[in-house]
Amino acid sequence: MVFQRIFLLLVWFAAALPVALWGQAQSTAKPKPHVVVIGVNGMELDVIRPLLLEGKMPNLSSVIKKGAYGKLRTVSAPNCPRVYSTFFTSTKPEEHGVTGFIVGGITANTNMLKEEPIWSMLSKSGVTVGMANVPATFPVMPVNGYMISGMLTRGKNCEDGVLCAPKLSEVQGGDAVYPPAMKAELLKNVGDFYIDCERMPSAADLKGHETEAIDAWLNKVQLIRQQQTQLFDYLLSRHPTEFTWLGQSCEDRTGHWLYPIAPYNAGYNPKINAVRTEAFPDQYIAFDKVLGAVLKHVDDNTYVIIVSDHGIKPLREFEETDPHAHMDHEKTTPVVAKHDFADGDDVPGSFFAMGPGIKHDLHLMGFEASVYDLAPTILHIYGIEQPAQMRGHVLSEIFENSDNKVAQK
Ligand SMILES: [Zn+2]
Repeated sequence: MVFQRIFLLLVWFAAALPVALWGQAQSTAKPKPHVVVIGVNGMELDVIRPLLLEGKMPNLSSVIKKGAYGKLRTVSAPNCPRVYSTFFTSTKPEEHGVTGFIVGGITANTNMLKEEPIWSMLSKSGVTVGMANVPATFPVMPVNGYMISGMLTRGKNCEDGVLCAPKLSEVQGGDAVYPPAMKAELLKNVGDFYIDCERMPSAADLKGHETEAIDAWLNKVQLIRQQQTQLFDYLLSRHPTEFTWLGQSCEDRTGHWLYPIAPYNAGYNPKINAVRTEAFPDQYIAFDKVLGAVLKHVDDNTYVIIVSDHGIKPLREFEETDPHAHMDHEKTTPVVAKHDFADGDDVPGSFFAMGPGIKHDLHLMGFEASVYDLAPTILHIYGIEQPAQMRGHVLSEIFENSDNKVAQK
């Protein structure tokens, strides 16, 4: 693992310097495309579609009108590290090595990646890269820009790194910020923000005072989202990069135990599920505001891509016999909705894209797009050839001219 990290470092330094110089020479002639990717953990189309109809997600609506959108086919038994590492590499979980939250008894981390991630490819090609709060990026890796880790970051009171919220100052067991000097700058200018979303309360925490526990948890989630919005605003203002990837992860966690299920759904507990029925949809309304803050930094020449790694659905048939049943998140929480169903098509993710040369108001039907297609499509925008190991394809159907010349326009 260490060998692989050093190898990647050497490859990057060997390749980046001449390319960076070349890139600078080029950049005076023709600027590189700008791409902003926003990852929303577990965005569920069944929940956001009614909100779109009600006009409660105006920013996402504007992206849809100006761009292409649809379901995103995901992998089997999808969860965040498994799918994000597929986003990063366009290879199967068994190939990239990050098969789940825990791999060989160890919390998933970037040292496990056996295939080259997109941030490394872009960096080598002289593209400036900025990433913040993207899941499964801990410990951070060197890039031609900055990287701030997200979900699965280890720290105080979050020693296993699984679905908990260490503050930046509390991170342990690896670096959460690259370059390291940026950490002090962030602490000074943004404050000591939470890197990930809050851990869900256990059944024991909830028993007897469900309403108070739910409200306290939701308040913390709101605080974390405010801090992340502030962080994104700071980074986009002070450290603009050609390629930027930002992550949000509170939505999925809220859905797991506060999905607005009906009394006939498995797991319904009125003490929990009748208390804040708006809590889960509200997460998407809150996300839409984050999106609005990001869009303020975006011009018409910037590609904006919003992706979700999977959806989330109420518990369903075969829960008792499915080997993945109730395995989400440590088995401690009163989970009423989940996503690691054996058939990934039960919980597709979602995809939204707008930018120069992308068709307007294009609805992708069925499963035209998959999680494997994100990295090849981003490389395509930068005019970088898709490496042989990548299993996805360029989503040429979303571009007005599918002549593979997007970057040259
Ligand atoms: Zn989840």
